Amino acid sequence: MKQPIVGYHQDEENHWVARLQCGHNQHVRHNPPWMVRTWVTTPQGRDAMLGHQLECVKCNAHAPRDWPL
Ligand SMILES: [Zn+2]
Repeated sequence: MKQPIVGYHQDEENHWVARLQCGHNQHVRHNPPWMVRTWVTTPQGRDAMLGHQLECVKCNAHAPRDWPL
């Protein structure tokens, strides 16, 4: 299910995690050359991706929310 990004935080290893509107978290790592997401490395890039829809596999699996409303 596609869900828009509503915010971000960083995990204990300083990897960026997107918060999706459904309440699930999704890692958005910049880990070249396998995962190139330069946008996640800058505040401007992250702001620009707010509202962008990501496929949420946790929704498809009916997983509970990762953070409360
Ligand atoms: Zn979800």
